[in-house]
Amino acid sequence: MNDKKRRLAIDMDEVLADTHAKFLTLFNRDFGIPLDLKQKPGTEIFENMPKEIGDHWKKYVNEPGFFRDVPVMRGALNIVPELNKKYDLFIVSAAMEFKNSFLDKYSWLEEHFPFIPWTNILFTGRKIIVSDVLIDDRAKNFSEHIERPLLFTSPHNVLLEEYERVNSWEEVGEKLL
Ligand SMILES: [Mg+2]
Repeated sequence: MNDKKRRLAIDMDEVLADTHAKFLTLFNRDFGIPLDLKQKPGTEIFENMPKEIGDHWKKYVNEPGFFRDVPVMRGALNIVPELNKKYDLFIVSAAMEFKNSFLDKYSWLEEHFPFIPWTNILFTGRKIIVSDVLIDDRAKNFSEHIERPLLFTSPHNVLLEEYERVNSWEEVGEKLL
């Protein structure tokens, strides 16, 4: 019998980390964008405000410290430790897109998910990985090397219908634990 654990890869932004909430906090602080912004389904957050305001997302995301205090996605602190017992769990983040994010993201993981060893943290560009499961909010990260892609619901992806979807960490737990 093969008792090797199955591999589970988990994305950070909009999955483990509520980056959307962090953006809203900053747009609210600087421009009074309401915290309960009604976002048009299938759009990015910055497309839901005047362009000259929305464009600030690039400035925010490149500032050192942006990723350090992003709220943990609701439910993740309960479910991820349980998943870690059952699966060979990896964090896979396309951190290369924002070079100031590496230390912040590493420190954030150390603070909130200290049981995940450095060997299981992949900061990458494109997600060229082989995994039994990948939980991600961006369908572009799903490839034929992912046996079971799970699309984590985020306003920008709600119109996609061709993927198995999870709407919360509770649902992840129901499917994978
Ligand atoms: Mg993401």
